[in-house]
Amino acid sequence: MTKTLHHRACHLCEAICGLTIETTEVDGDLRITSIKGDAQDTFSRGHICPKAVALQDIQNDPDRLRQPMLRVGSEWQPVEWEDAFNLVAERLAGIQARHGQNAVAVYQGNPSVHNYGLMTHSNYFLGLLKTRNRFSATSVDQLPHHLTSHLMYGHGLLLPIPDIDHTDFMLILGGNPLASNGSIMTVPDVEKRLKAIQARGGKARAAAKRRRWPISICSCVPVAMRRCCSGCSTPCSPKA
Ligand code: SF4
Repeated sequence: MTKTLHHRACHLCEAICGLTIETTEVDGDLRITSIKGDAQDTFSRGHICPKAVALQDIQNDPDRLRQPMLRVGSEWQPVEWEDAFNLVAERLAGIQARHGQNAVAVYQGNPSVHNYGLMTHSNYFLGLLKTRNRFSATSVDQLPHHLTSHLMYGHGLLLPIPDIDHTDFMLILGGNPLASNGSIMTVPDVEKRLKAIQARGGKARAAAKRRRWPISICSCVPVAMRRCCSGCSTPCSPKA
């Protein structure tokens, strides 16, 4: 039995926490046996959230697709990647030829932003598809952020990062970093960092529309901000 430690960054959100992943090899069978926050990562300082702990469940899931499968009648048969790509290209082109370009819709989830292949090639592919039916969690997540960056800085990905470790006053408009884990701000371990603002005599305040997010302005951020958003009955002294 051979145990090996790997140091990696979590690719599930923009907080990019450092991970320590232990793999164990037994008789040629390699398994992930532990995923922990990397205490030596100077950025995330050992922080990890439940999503990253569950990565091993995805990796080891016996139902995980590890190669393309083709449905033939009621059966699923493994096929080579080359054949799968050719079939997909042929079918997509056929659908668009018969029903128009918008007959094909695309959905991209958050992890696709953390995959080199998709980052570098998906826009070319989408450009070739020329469909206006593109769906993504972005539209209910951070699209206003991209639009603001586009209008102010000329590119949707020029996202300003708040200097949370040095600010004395942090005002958060329309967001809840305790729910998003500091994603998009690239602030791992955001709860401790918000508390640190208060510990050095500063303030953190959050404001959001009541109908969209059940907080207005809390005088007891950051702890109450989480409680407000989870809908518990703990009063948070909102000041509308
Ligand atoms: S906060 Fe984001 S980067 Fe950090 S462990 Fe969770 S999903 Fe991964």
